[in-house]
Amino acid sequence: MRNCKNVLHYIFGQGSFNQVESFVTRKRNAENKSIIYCLDHYFKNNGLANRLPLSDWDQVIYVDTSKEPFTPYINTIVKGLREEQRLKPGAVVGIGGGSTLDTAKAVSILLTNTGWAEDYQGWDLVKNPGLYMIGIPSISGTGAESSRTCVMINPERGIKLGMNSDYSVFDQLILDPELTSTVPRNQYFYTGLDTYIHCLESLNGRYRNAIGDAFSQQAMLLSKEVFLSEDMLSEENRAKLMVASYLGGCAIASSYVGVVHPFSAGLGVVLGIHHGLANCLVMTVMDEFYPKEVEIFWEMVEEQQVEIPRGLFKNLTETQYDKLYNSIIVHEKPLANALGDNFRDILTKEKVVKIFMAM
Ligand code: NAD
Ligand code: ZN
Repeated sequence: MRNCKNVLHYIFGQGSFNQVESFVTRKRNAENKSIIYCLDHYFKNNGLANRLPLSDWDQVIYVDTSKEPFTPYINTIVKGLREEQRLKPGAVVGIGGGSTLDTAKAVSILLTNTGWAEDYQGWDLVKNPGLYMIGIPSISGTGAESSRTCVMINPERGIKLGMNSDYSVFDQLILDPELTSTVPRNQYFYTGLDTYIHCLESLNGRYRNAIGDAFSQQAMLLSKEVFLSEDMLSEENRAKLMVASYLGGCAIASSYVGVVHPFSAGLGVVLGIHHGLANCLVMTVMDEFYPKEVEIFWEMVEEQQVEIPRGLFKNLTETQYDKLYNSIIVHEKPLANALGDNFRDILTKEKVVKIFMAM
């Protein structure tokens, strides 16, 4: 396995958000006066910003998560910050779900590296450490808080790909389950299931290692406890899911995903479907690859009474099916992890179209 890096510091617990001031203060000094806050746009109207220790120097960016991060959007934010000469930020704080946390990571990196977001999509391309980064998840599941990647859609290249680097790991996490109490039920399920899905993919893959397995097994156990219990949104379950998400993100450092993620990335790039929902749509037709886990998935859906739309992709155009196929088949590592080196013989264009028809 490769040399892995995980988050350096974290605190966990109800109300730990109140400690944000103590962490931010340490990063503010005469030279670096400002702090950049990237907040999910949901928090514009919910008063969370009033709880931040804002100074006149600080910048608050409300991240529009109606679309998942795409490279031109990140570049626009970065351009604005680079032009703001008086800013010498001491830290970037991300508060939100995977989209916002990934935006914060990319912003931090692009403020200390030249060029633009698309230049660093890939593996270990980032040259300089980013600004000090604090991550505060407000919805659990993606593991973006603890992984070494920030995922962005590159519309020009028609791909969804992360900046994978040791510099894209948060320096400090504040894990406060209280923040997730306002997440709508369906969204909570869709995003939460990301942990379960990452873990089932890596545990069924060919590239395994003892540490990745240990993180994945524990994260999977917690996810099952949450989604097979009566109320996935109870205080206890929100805390459990936050831990599961953190562990799932740690697992990503040393493991690969499988068949589900390439399909859901395709749905994201070609049809703009958000990651969590896309994963769940794909799970409905994965019995051939992950039969046991799909059965449990349906039990979870049943228990939590969430909506999983069906029949959305029966009548796409030939061009759309082509684009979907192309954006799936580029994910060589996960597909080889799941299906072996001859994955192209198994996932032919006809087979992929059939899978979409059945969703
Ligand atoms: P998200 O960040 O896109 O947010 C989903 C929705 O939840 C948004 O509408 C947002 O406004 C809302 N929301 C967030 N917190 C809320 C709260 N406390 N109360 C009410 N509403 C709230 O969702 P996500 O599923 O967490 O993130 C998806 C993104 O993460 C995708 O771009 C995906 O590719 C990426 N991802 C990254 C990694 C990684 O390791 N970096 C891993 C998996 C997925
Ligand atoms: Zn995922």
